[in-house]
This record gives sequence, C-alpha cells and structure tokens, in this order.
Amino acid sequence: MKGWWYSTAGGVLDSRRRAVDAMRAPAANDAADAPASSSSSASLRTLDNYEKMDRIGEGTYGVVYKARCKTTNALVAMKRVRMDQERDGMPLTSLREIKLLQRLRHENVVRLLRVIQGNNPENVFLVFEYCEHDVGRLIDHMHTTFTTSEVKSLMTQTLRAVEYLHERCIFHRDLKLSNLLLNQRGELKLCDFGLARPYEPIERGSYTPKVVTLWYRAPELLFGCDTYTSAIDMWAVGCIFAEFLKHQPLFPGSTEIEQVQIICMLLGSPNAQIWPGWDSLPNVKNFKLPDQPYNFLEVNFPKLSPAGVNLLDVLLTYDPEQRVTAKEALAHEYFRESPPPKPPAEMPTFPSTHSALPAGPRRNEPKRQRVGVLDDRIASVF
Ligand code: ADP
Ligand code: MG
Repeated sequence: MKGWWYSTAGGVLDSRRRAVDAMRAPAANDAADAPASSSSSASLRTLDNYEKMDRIGEGTYGVVYKARCKTTNALVAMKRVRMDQERDGMPLTSLREIKLLQRLRHENVVRLLRVIQGNNPENVFLVFEYCEHDVGRLIDHMHTTFTTSEVKSLMTQTLRAVEYLHERCIFHRDLKLSNLLLNQRGELKLCDFGLARPYEPIERGSYTPKVVTLWYRAPELLFGCDTYTSAIDMWAVGCIFAEFLKHQPLFPGSTEIEQVQIICMLLGSPNAQIWPGWDSLPNVKNFKLPDQPYNFLEVNFPKLSPAGVNLLDVLLTYDPEQRVTAKEALAHEYFRESPPPKPPAEMPTFPSTHSALPAGPRRNEPKRQRVGVLDDRIASVF
C-alpha cells in the first residue's frame, strides 16, 4: 500500500526535479540507516521501502511523519516538502534547507540521511534520524522541571550546535524549543533549517527582518533592522535558557507591540546609552516604550545562581554588538560551577511525546511567517 505518500496535484518544473536529483544525499550518508550486511543501498532510496507510522509534526513548510525503514528496521522522521503551487514546484527555501543540511555534520544537529523522490515529482521527502521528542512539547507536558545539571546539559548542547553553525557563517533564524529535538540517549539535536542561510561575516549583509518566531525574536528585528548578525540567534538562546528553567515561554507576546512591551517590562526599556544607535532603527517610532528603567532578571529567577543570572543577562543584551557569542557562552562560569552539566547518557528518559500527543504546534505558540529566499535582499539559495 503506497497511496499515502502520493499527492494528486500536478505540474512541476523539470529544473526543480533535476535540482532534487542532484541533492539526493551523497553515498556517505547511506551508512546511517543501511543494513549491516548491506543488500542494496539503492532500495533505501525508494519511498516504498519506508512504512508510515504516526504523523509527528506539522509546521510552516511541511508535514513530518515517523516511519520505519523496512530494510533496516530503523526509525526515521520523514519531512514531506510542501510544494509551492503558485511558483510551480519545490520552494527555494526547501532547496536551501537541503543544501545546508547536507553540509552539516555535528552531533547536535539533526542528521539528514537522504532525500527521496516518489514516482510523482511532487513528492519529495527528507529522511532524518528519528528523535523521540521536541523539547517544546516535552516541556509543555512534563510534571516536574529540569534539574540544574539537566538545564546545563540542554544548554551546552544547544550552544554547541549554534557555535558550529556560526563558525560556518550560517544563521538559523528560527531557534525555539520546538526546533530542538531530544532522543532517548539524552542527545539534543537542532532541526528545521527552513529559515537558515549563510551570512556575510565581514561586510554586513542585508536580510529580511521577518524571521524568527515572535516569542524568540531579538529586539533589533522587532525594530526592523535588516543588517542583523548571528547575534539574533543568541537572543533566542537566551529565551530558550529561561524556558528550560521555568518551563514556560519568557516573552509570550501575541503582537509585535506586546512583544516589545513584555521585553521592556523585564529588562528595562532600551536607550542610546546601553544600545548606541538603537533610536535610528527603522521601526523604533512605531513603538511607545514604557518608562521602565530596571532589569528584573535577578528578581524573576530567584533560584538561579548569580553566574546563571549573568549568563541570562549577557544573552538577553539589547545591543547585538555586546551580546555574548555562542563560543563565549560555552566558556561561561555558569557551566563550570557546581553542579556540572549532566552527561547526555544520564539524562532522564520520557515516554515519546510524538506518539502520545497530536501533531501540531505547541500551545499558543505563534506561527512563523513563510519567508521566501527572495525576501532576503541578498538572495542566495546555497
Ligand atoms: P517546520 O518547518 O514545519 O516547523 P520542522 O523541521 O521543525 O518543520 O518539523 C516540525 C516538527 O516535526 C518538529 O517541531 C518536531 O516536532 C517534528 N520533527 C521534525 N524532525 C524530527 C525528527 N528528526 N525526529 C522527530 N521529530 C521530528
Ligand atoms: Mg519547526
């Protein structure tokens, strides 16, 4: 029975098909779900070799299924690329996601095993290693909070993934809990490269500010800056750190105006002293900032050590030039003081949230906007 994989829509440009052919994951990737006595790795590249199980995710750009490889019995996650009917074929963002993922090899970045095309060119699936949880849904349904050493483990693994990307001059642009996966071995893996792209390390590029899910969006993006840097990812890591600690989103705004208000109420409103040049950002005049001069991080995180509060503070720094980098954050005192980060193998295990819960976004989390490759001023697919 193969019907579930196939859609009936028609019409895709041959050029896109050729692009997909060229992107089929290289032979080196076959090892990951190849059988020990490899009969034929070619069979792993056909859709019929995968048995569909649950639908585990549905986001902006595609539906994700859990599946089992019939040859190896390995579990995989298959992300079906949503075709862009108006532009006749595979969205360029998906081509970029594939191309980026093929370049990335890191224990904290989800592994793309292969790209599969069905009989119908409309059906393209990205096959990933399977992880039992996304941390967003896990946290929403946990009854206890993570211990300090568990938070440190999750944070160091997140920071290592981000450091790896930034060293390669790639920004992710959608860091949030539902894009952090956790497997039963306690290993955290960053996923969803639908908005990621290479950036100019020296000369500032100009990119669309319509990136990052609202709750995790850095202030320079909210104020309309289009010459941003990898520091936007570090702001999101600050929001993630707070969420690992409290198990609830730090800045759950429902509009951009509300988002800026909530940030100012916790951190104090920005001014030209702490953030030189902020008042000349394009959209600053659209916001009326509260008269709130204080930073309340310490008060809001009373159980966090002074070093922990400092790490939160340097991540949630208004001025992107002064915000901590991933490399600096990994060397922070917070990770050296007791208790140490828990080794992944000692992390607790949980029943899979994928089989227990309906697929779909987290409670109340705003949807990310669909952004095309051409929305960035410097358009590049690869
Ligand atoms: P989108 O662009 O649609 O958000 P994602 O790549 O983030 O796409 O996938 C959506 C959801 O699917 C994730 O939040 C996660 O719950 C689930 N998911 C994605 N990849 C995997 C994987 N490799 N293993 C397990 N679940 C996954
Ligand atoms: Mg996602």
